[in-house]
Amino acid sequence: MKVLLSFFFTAFLFCTAADAQSLDSLLPVRGFCIAAPKPAQLERFIGFIKTELAPRNLNTLVLRVDWNYQYKTHPELSDKDALSENDVAKLVKAAKESGIRVIPQVNLLGHQSWASTIHNLLREYPQFDETPAVKMPEKYAWPNADSLYCKSYCPLHPDLHQIVFAIMDEICDAFESDAFHAGMDEVFYIGDKNCPRCSGRNKALLFAGEVNKIQEHLSLKNRSLWIWGDRLIDGRTTGIGMWEGSFNNTYPAIDLISKKVVINDWHYERPDPTAALFALKGFQVITCPWRNAPNAVQQTRDMIQFRKSATDSTRKNYLGMMQTVWSGAEQFLNEFYSNPDNPQAPGLTASNCFRTMYDEINGKNKIAQK
Ligand SMILES: [Zn+2]
Repeated sequence: MKVLLSFFFTAFLFCTAADAQSLDSLLPVRGFCIAAPKPAQLERFIGFIKTELAPRNLNTLVLRVDWNYQYKTHPELSDKDALSENDVAKLVKAAKESGIRVIPQVNLLGHQSWASTIHNLLREYPQFDETPAVKMPEKYAWPNADSLYCKSYCPLHPDLHQIVFAIMDEICDAFESDAFHAGMDEVFYIGDKNCPRCSGRNKALLFAGEVNKIQEHLSLKNRSLWIWGDRLIDGRTTGIGMWEGSFNNTYPAIDLISKKVVINDWHYERPDPTAALFALKGFQVITCPWRNAPNAVQQTRDMIQFRKSATDSTRKNYLGMMQTVWSGAEQFLNEFYSNPDNPQAPGLTASNCFRTMYDEINGKNKIAQK
């Protein structure tokens, strides 16, 4: 009996290893992106890594940390209830034991505010604000007269990068990470006509300059840069629009930034196959769905097909898939474990999309595509 059990156990281990190996060639990156948990949710989130992420053969976890860390270099930028160095060590250990690489994200350039709240960098250093004349509204509404979606920092402010680079170095050290995610999506304020440094400058050059500056700093410690891809897509010509593509003339930056930058190509409304655009330009690219499960299945199949049909030179650029979650970790875990539907848009939840996409990746998806 003991011998039999041992045989089954060995066979199980072998199957798991073999599955992971064949998945690595099918989709080298199998990711999940979410806000880093607050300290009160840490243990619960670690449980989620072990019981839900690892068994699905996931191997990459992007955690949006932003100011949810007790920075020693710049404590003034930390949230009040932020993760400690010890908390992060626990999280990284759990991920490593599950074979998962962790990449921290701090939003750079754009997303320096949300709705009517200024985030910590511009709160502490208002001189970095690209549009200081735009005041935060008491009650935020979109659209608005200022076209305020999120504030941006001024990439040409001479005192900015000393602070940003210290934050990047510290968070990568804490997460023992060989990559850093800088966000850089949905940058609407760039090259503002009233900025004394940026006024009149080419927006693609400004965007590319900031990407390259960040990439060059990371490369000093052999770390790679990940960013969202939307500012590099021509939103008008493609019909993709002003969110998932660029209407503010940043898109020529696709030919100006380092090919070492890894592109996270997010599409939430339609499964636009723009991974091919990036891969053929020489970028490594990961396709990212959010809450539309049928789209995520289509995007996964497209990525697998791209890898199959590409030349040897281009195949290596199609890295894989990453589920994105835009609620906090606590809200997502509540949704994941209690399975509520989305009352505003039935069927459209990140937890449903996550389950379906990983069923598809692991060959367990029973839902046929339309
Ligand atoms: Zn500026």
